[in-house]
Amino acid sequence: MYHQKPVLPPTPVITRWNTWFEDVKYHQTYIGYLPSFINDEIRLFNDTEILMQLSELLVFSDSKSKLHNYLFDGGMPLMKLFKAARFLDPNQFKILSQNINDYSSNINSLERCKEEWPIYCNIVNDGIMPKSIPFQLKAVFANHIDFNDYIIGRHPIHYPKFNKVNCTLCKNRSKHKMQQKYGFCSNKDCFLKEECPYRTKLCVCLKHCDRLVQKHYLYSIGKHNSNSVLNVRRGLTEKAEEIVEDLIYNYDSKPKLIHVRMKKKYKHKIDYMPTLEQVQHYIKNRRNCISENNKIDELKPILDNYRYQYGVTKNDELFLFGVDLGEGTEKNHFHLVFTSYSLLKNIEFANKGGMFHLDATYKIVKYNYPLIVFGITDIKHKFFPICFMFTSHEQEEDYDFFLNV
Ligand SMILES: [Zn+2]
Ligand SMILES: [Zn+2]
Repeated sequence: MYHQKPVLPPTPVITRWNTWFEDVKYHQTYIGYLPSFINDEIRLFNDTEILMQLSELLVFSDSKSKLHNYLFDGGMPLMKLFKAARFLDPNQFKILSQNINDYSSNINSLERCKEEWPIYCNIVNDGIMPKSIPFQLKAVFANHIDFNDYIIGRHPIHYPKFNKVNCTLCKNRSKHKMQQKYGFCSNKDCFLKEECPYRTKLCVCLKHCDRLVQKHYLYSIGKHNSNSVLNVRRGLTEKAEEIVEDLIYNYDSKPKLIHVRMKKKYKHKIDYMPTLEQVQHYIKNRRNCISENNKIDELKPILDNYRYQYGVTKNDELFLFGVDLGEGTEKNHFHLVFTSYSLLKNIEFANKGGMFHLDATYKIVKYNYPLIVFGITDIKHKFFPICFMFTSHEQEEDYDFFLNV
């Protein structure tokens, strides 16, 4: 048995799953060589104890019967324990045996719970611990405004918590999230008697950052304690949102100032004056959309300091030359190209047989804007960067922009 280029088995690293797979893949390929190798060793060097052990291992008689036992004869260790532990899942326990002995034989400590056992059985079977609440779809909205219009004049709902889960509203389940909120009725009249049993679930698809295209699905269950209808609304009206946007654009985005300005200047224009909390809420949500986190306007004066000035900008000082501060939205891309005189000089390698490279790297900045790197390698394959560009998008037009500047 000879091999042209012997390869050693890879050593698995405990915390790196891939290395284990690599190891298995290696042995799967080369396992056939091992028996003949060990037989050759035994033939050449007599049967030492280790060699005998190895040859026994390789027959796999043991492993085979073990595998068969695990897979086909139900001999998996702990299988009984796992099966018994199913009583902890109320949904499964309902259809399983209610006899504690069926479980305590595998989970010994359950013997001490004999008194509590019937109580647990009752709780589960009364459905006090439902795993999922059977919400019913009540309405679908194409965007936040439609949803807001819908809730005018309805009972106010308090949403104490929300979570982000994979979107289930969209048919082709691409990997985006949706916000899922569970709401309780907070109408005072409903509370006078006892807690209102009305519950809602609101799902908002977060595929787009824009609230004008975010799908809203509203589910509900139960009936209100009272029929009183209050003229309260949670969100801002369309008109109010417009004014807030105007104020943010013209002044700044501090909720308190915006609220004051709205009261002073826009009271006559507005159909429904929002509370300060509502404005704060709106601006917080707005900021959560990535591109709104910082204002482009604030960036401009900073960037002005980095323009190239002949005789002033030093050779290894950074300067900008392709500045196109779009908002980073689909229609209005953001570009920022920068380099230094010394870096630009790297272009000279082109005359010495260098090769140009253009590539993008990700996750360097908070907004996940790609950083496009343009550089050159010399004949020794050493890389010299020439210039860099931050961009909001990575489409043809963005590369076009980069190559044109
Ligand atoms: Zn979606
Ligand atoms: Zn209610």
